[in-house]
Amino acid sequence: MDIAPISAWHLPRAQKPILIAGPCSAETETQVNETCDRLAAQGMVSILRAGIWKPRTRPNSFEGVGAVGLAWLKRAGLRHGLPVTVEVANSKHVEEALQAGIDILWIGARTTVNPFAVQEIADALAGVDLPVIVKNPVNPDLSLWIGALERLANSGITRLAALHRGFSYYEKTKYRNNPQWEIPIELMRQLPQLPVWCDPSHICGNRHLLLHVAQKALDLNFGGLMLESHINPDAAWSDAEQQVTPERLGELFQSLVIRQVATDNPQFKHTLDDLRENIDAIDRDIIDMLAKRMRISRQIGRCKNDNHITILQPERWDSLFRQRTQQGIGQGLTPDFMRDFCTAIHNESIRHQNSVMNP
Ligand code: PEP
Ligand code: MN
Repeated sequence: MDIAPISAWHLPRAQKPILIAGPCSAETETQVNETCDRLAAQGMVSILRAGIWKPRTRPNSFEGVGAVGLAWLKRAGLRHGLPVTVEVANSKHVEEALQAGIDILWIGARTTVNPFAVQEIADALAGVDLPVIVKNPVNPDLSLWIGALERLANSGITRLAALHRGFSYYEKTKYRNNPQWEIPIELMRQLPQLPVWCDPSHICGNRHLLLHVAQKALDLNFGGLMLESHINPDAAWSDAEQQVTPERLGELFQSLVIRQVATDNPQFKHTLDDLRENIDAIDRDIIDMLAKRMRISRQIGRCKNDNHITILQPERWDSLFRQRTQQGIGQGLTPDFMRDFCTAIHNESIRHQNSVMNP
């Protein structure tokens, strides 16, 4: 994929992290103006955003003001010398956004899941040299996310960025959308030249977790943040719980700790090398121990096979799971990790027993 560096976006304030801010939805001309003016006054926003067409989960919610809002946002951007961005979900949105002089487009999570819709947008953008931000699909599928970027790249779009907004999850967690950080991290690994940004507002779904998620994103090398802001958050027509006033957003942004990816300090390098050597040795031991454990699992498999016993013994599995989890938690490991760890070992053990019992 031919991906242009972020310098090719010619952003007026290209500090790291880049900040994209604005209301979830454009509601009225006054609300867009006042939000953008107060955000611009904070002095750290690089791109102004507003949702014009809103993809809502259930009908009869506010579905956006439509094309009339494009001019409100564009005028606010011109007043402050800032580029503006809106979400597009079909070719009609693209045409109307281009006509209104919108500078940057974004594709929302509910659109990235649908290759037909993404292709329609990519086709509408053929020959148009505009930056496009692609949010992750609602489901945790990295190929679908990359596929959307590829469709746009095939249309000649080179100024591309990915925006991580978390993934739908059936179980209720403290997040509105589960971050599953490993997915954007893998995206960064596969496409190191791609700018990858984070949208803490839609990950959190509430105000109090914003700082924590934004800081985590910066510590994972995300190069930008998208944050929703409203002049009267509680009265917002969409996503009220997760929006903050422009002034609060300014404070939040100022309180982020910006760390370097690397340093030349020899003392730091020396200490880090030592610690990493320790970790490498421990990881080798862990793998040796796991291999040893699976050899015993295969012996158990042979024994069960000889006695016509099933692989899964629910009571044994339940008691082992509880004991190991308690042991790990007692030593400061997190319950989430212990659950994943025990399940992974158990699944691997079943694979080994199965290979002996059903060769
Ligand atoms: C939004 O940014 O307002 C939005 C609808 O986001 P998402 O596509 O992440 O749900
Ligand atoms: Mn929103």
